[in-house]
Amino acid sequence: MKLILTLIATLVLASLLPLHATEAESARPNILFLFSDDHALRTIGAYEGSINKTPNLDRIASEGGIFTSAFVGNSICCPSRASILTGKHSAANGILGNSSNWNGKQWVYPRELGKAGNQTALIGKWHLKGNPTDEFQHWEVLSGSGGQGSYYNPEFVSAVGPSKTEGYSTDIITDKSIDWLKKRDASKPFLLCAQFKAPHTPRTPALKDMASYDGVVFPEPPTLFDDYATRQPFVADTWMKISGMTGPGLNIGPTQEELAANPKKMPHFLEDMNPAQRAVWHKAYDPRNRKYAKLKAAGKLNGKDGIRYAYQRYIADTVRCVDGLDGNVGRILAYLDASGLSKNTIVIYSSDQGFFTGEHGWAEKRWMYEESFKFPLMIRWPGTIKPGTRIDALVQNIDLAPTLLTAAGIAVPKEIHGRPLQPLLAGTTPPDWRKDILYTYYDGGTPKARGEYNMPRHMGVRDDRYKLISFYDYNAWEFYDLKDDPNELHNGYDKSEYAQEVERLKARLAALKSQYQIPEPPKLVAKKKRQPATPD
Ligand code: CA
Repeated sequence: MKLILTLIATLVLASLLPLHATEAESARPNILFLFSDDHALRTIGAYEGSINKTPNLDRIASEGGIFTSAFVGNSICCPSRASILTGKHSAANGILGNSSNWNGKQWVYPRELGKAGNQTALIGKWHLKGNPTDEFQHWEVLSGSGGQGSYYNPEFVSAVGPSKTEGYSTDIITDKSIDWLKKRDASKPFLLCAQFKAPHTPRTPALKDMASYDGVVFPEPPTLFDDYATRQPFVADTWMKISGMTGPGLNIGPTQEELAANPKKMPHFLEDMNPAQRAVWHKAYDPRNRKYAKLKAAGKLNGKDGIRYAYQRYIADTVRCVDGLDGNVGRILAYLDASGLSKNTIVIYSSDQGFFTGEHGWAEKRWMYEESFKFPLMIRWPGTIKPGTRIDALVQNIDLAPTLLTAAGIAVPKEIHGRPLQPLLAGTTPPDWRKDILYTYYDGGTPKARGEYNMPRHMGVRDDRYKLISFYDYNAWEFYDLKDDPNELHNGYDKSEYAQEVERLKARLAALKSQYQIPEPPKLVAKKKRQPATPD
């Protein structure tokens, strides 16, 4: 009797299971992860204080949600990418800095999605040391220039080998992504990571965007002329000032006539272009560069005038590259609409960190100061996120992996540092949501063992009001009250009125290091002093 009952139960279950599996399969959302490089929040229309228009990117926020307090754990390319893939802080995934070797055998969320029946693909900028192996089922990534790839006629590498495509990087990555979507196995949910180089340096816009914004004066950030008065002295000595930007960083180069007379003067970023592309560049940039030469010769680019000029050149090229990005995001969103995929696809727009666009006189990232510590994050998920949702809770890039696993119905392993964002996406901040976040940056040094950009290593903690930064190689600290001093101009570490908060945050920093099992940073190794021509 017992055997018969078991048999009946098994048959009933067997008849139900396929149905349930099919329903779960069809309900499981697709994921489109749109990712850029070095995208400052100030150059996204949906963010407060934006200086430009990005209607397509803004669509993701207005039809879904925007995170106003999303922070990276380590503000630089490779570590950020590793934290997104692993859901872990740098010390746990091994990518402390841009020179760390990627261990592709470690746990990553795309492989888990693949194992659970999703079709997975990565197209565009990977920028980890070592090509992908089985992290994604399909991958085609930018190669050349140390994995940065070129803006023009870029080389790619995939499992079948290298290839080169004529055209502009942002357009090509979009073409390849849409092509993959068209050819995919439509019976399975997908994860597509379309990862752009733009607006990373050398900021070369698409041909159609090169001539735009002539005569436009972009607003200057209020801290463009920061004198670093209350900061630790080494902060002023870093090599990332707009005032120190050179030719290629600002699209300043020889004119067509100068190049014809001396072809050896061709800058690196022009070498990648074919003659027709170069002609368009010359048409747009030669008049600007002739004007620059005149101003320089007349002594009109000294001191603040020079900084103002460099800032305008720099920000205009940034916005031109962002325009190319925005248009292509629009193309992908239009494809989702036309193919009926929009309603069951989670669309994420993000970047590997924020960026200083003139704030504190800088054009870089790396610091725990707000502009590079924050990263853009907007998510559209029909039926889950109410259109126009604004999320102010503290989130980090380590939260993306657990969020996407949860969306796919996969349990999040215990060792993952991040937390699924689902409650926040539904409009609720759970009472036990994190109250503060950890930051660790390892690519720095000291005068004896100089790091990248002559920067110090640092780590710190930020809550919804205060920030404490430890420059441990110098036994030095900074403290900011972000409510009273949102631009972080008044280091309050030694002020008696903050003594209690400083002590509290020191204890929180120790607690977070313990929670995430962050070991003491590796010893500094002396490096040869160098001043990079272009940022990494
Ligand atoms: Ca970056």
